[in-house]
Amino acid sequence: MTDSEAGETPRVSVTLDTKLQNVVGGKTAVALGKAFGVETVGDLLSHYPRRYARRGELSSISLLPLDENVTIVAEIRSIEERPMKARKGSIVEVKISDGRGILSLTWFNQSWRAKQLQPGMRGMFAGKVTDYRGHLQLTHPTYKLFGPGDDDEPEMPTDAAAAKLWIEQPVAIYPATNTVASWQIAKTVELLLDSLDSVPDPLPAELRGERGLLPHGRALELIHRPEVDSDWRRARDTLRFTEAFVLQSALVQQRNAARAQEATARVPAPGGFLDRFDAALPFTLTDDQQSVAAEIAGDIAQTSPMNRLVQGEVGSGKTVVALRAMLAVADSGGQAAFLAPTEVLAAQHLRSIVRALGPELSVELMPTLITGQLPVAERRKALLRTVSGQAHIVIGTHALLGEKVTFFDLGLVVVDEQHRFGVDQREALRLKGAVPPHVLVLTATPIPRTVAMTVFGDLDVSTIAMLPEGRQGIETFVVPLFEKPGWVSRVWSRLAEELALNRQAFVVCAAIAPKQLEEGEIADPEAAAPADVETVLAELRRNPVLASARIEPLHGRMTSEEKDQTMRSFAAGEIDVLVATTVIEVGVDVPNASAMVVMDADRFGVSQLHQLRGRVGRGGVPGLCLLVTTAEAESLARERVEAVAATLDGFELAQVDLELRREGDVLGLNQSGGRSSLRLLRVATDGDLIGEARGHAQRLSDRDPLLATVPALREAVRRRLDDSERASLTKS
Ligand code: ADP
Ligand code: MG
Repeated sequence: MTDSEAGETPRVSVTLDTKLQNVVGGKTAVALGKAFGVETVGDLLSHYPRRYARRGELSSISLLPLDENVTIVAEIRSIEERPMKARKGSIVEVKISDGRGILSLTWFNQSWRAKQLQPGMRGMFAGKVTDYRGHLQLTHPTYKLFGPGDDDEPEMPTDAAAAKLWIEQPVAIYPATNTVASWQIAKTVELLLDSLDSVPDPLPAELRGERGLLPHGRALELIHRPEVDSDWRRARDTLRFTEAFVLQSALVQQRNAARAQEATARVPAPGGFLDRFDAALPFTLTDDQQSVAAEIAGDIAQTSPMNRLVQGEVGSGKTVVALRAMLAVADSGGQAAFLAPTEVLAAQHLRSIVRALGPELSVELMPTLITGQLPVAERRKALLRTVSGQAHIVIGTHALLGEKVTFFDLGLVVVDEQHRFGVDQREALRLKGAVPPHVLVLTATPIPRTVAMTVFGDLDVSTIAMLPEGRQGIETFVVPLFEKPGWVSRVWSRLAEELALNRQAFVVCAAIAPKQLEEGEIADPEAAAPADVETVLAELRRNPVLASARIEPLHGRMTSEEKDQTMRSFAAGEIDVLVATTVIEVGVDVPNASAMVVMDADRFGVSQLHQLRGRVGRGGVPGLCLLVTTAEAESLARERVEAVAATLDGFELAQVDLELRREGDVLGLNQSGGRSSLRLLRVATDGDLIGEARGHAQRLSDRDPLLATVPALREAVRRRLDDSERASLTKS
């Protein structure tokens, strides 16, 4: 017997995967979709409240912040409608009070408000606070009335005890937009919770029991409709762990799926390219280089694709290790693609690879550059060499991922400086060859373990911790201009001393040119503009202590030929000082560069400063880094600069950075509510939790690779992977 035969309203089964528009009105579904990117019931139910307020104590009228969006619980005192003075039409003005202050609400040409609202009604009123002739008001606010006439809000109870409960019950406040108010979300969520079928648990029962967590459906209920504060706290703990566990299970699955693919095994030929390269290598690999090289050689000799991340400080010798893997691939007849984050770096990699290979191997392996800016004829030639398989090493930016570039036999993709390439680009890469290539990711940004697990959870990680011998290290000093404004001239004489030893230097600025004021704009004397390349360049060229120095600019407004030319001259020692923006941040390798001055160091991130500093002290000469700042002692900005000066340990600094930045930046994901973003997890603070979840996910997957015993987890993982796939599609 079907439902309709029973003569009842057919009850549609509602699950987390049900489309929103099948449960709530189409209009609501569209509005929510636009505002938050939610499509399904599950999506909206994981749009968790941002915080919880109480009916009795939201913003207080007497303390309203101007120009901010507020939600106030208050009672209507009076309603007045009057014609506008200057224009046609009428104004409805309503006065509300929370017992401590009075606030006006105004609407233009909406007479019906005067009929709907009555003195004595209570409700929540939301809008932006403006100042109209010295009186605070909300113009065209939205509101939700309590009590009679509103079926979803329980009437305010009359007996004191019940009233106290009613007032103290936490009210979920959702991340809202100007088109969808918090209580509109709350109302839709209520509807979903009321019609939702029982929700299966993505956590295996024994794991849930062991950690004392709530059943999933109960947790969803309590995070949205708590009765007391402890409700949402418990719900949050459950959902946070669930989020970590589902994410880690998804990564473990992804990793297993990647490994299950067929790849071509790449084994170096005796007496081949790799052997010849090794025989000519002018140094011995460090122990770390050797063990990482062995891991890579082991990986690519398999018939499943390598997915490995190699992290190591700037100058630790990652590129050599990667090059050896490329040669092993070439030995087996295959090609390697080498991706750099910028065209300058791609060109520099080509030069250093040609240099490292020597003339003979270079002719045979034909390292080839493909960038978006190559002249047409050259580009055609490069593409031809690539498709024919003549070029065994192809170097470029992510333009190499473009559809026009076809490889004959792509065996290995090396991504240099991964942090600029997101998870999605990595996925696109894997789909590039007919047979998936081996993938090697290099990064000089030390990645805290939890970030590695969250962002690179599908990769195996190797670390080169030691630097080759003979490195002299870097000394770092903070130059605090706030206390010692005169020290700036000492900076330039110190720079001159370095140059006198036949060394070279960088001066890094946060801006290219002085800030242009907009027409009519008045310069704010408080807001000091950052030192810029143009101004500093002119000053240094005028400075008598640097009279004999050759000083040139390098910044992003130069064409890539100009930048390239400048870098080449600098590398050749024809330029003494480069005044540059952060275009020099990554990978630039000039062993004779010994000194770096960073102007307004407090304007840069901790990891960025560390990266910048890695440009000096790369050869046999000791490095010197001067971090110039006007930030006051003990300010947060100053603390960051001091942290960089205090240690050369990139891992430590990465952790500092992580704590200071929003995870969104760390993850390369938008965290503010996109479908595949993190919700309750914070990589900076939930490290232990993530680690535990990883362990559980791994053990479960070992026991039950298809997750057959926990169907709800399988579904949750599928949703998670679908989401990231969709996110990558919308980005490309
Ligand atoms: P990374 O890519 O990690 O920044 P590179 O591979 O570019 O480092 O190496 C930096 C410099 O150190 C290069 O000039 C390289 O030739 C040199 N180098 C690499 N490994 C060693 C080693 N084991 N001993 C001496 N020099 C090395
Ligand atoms: Mg490098």
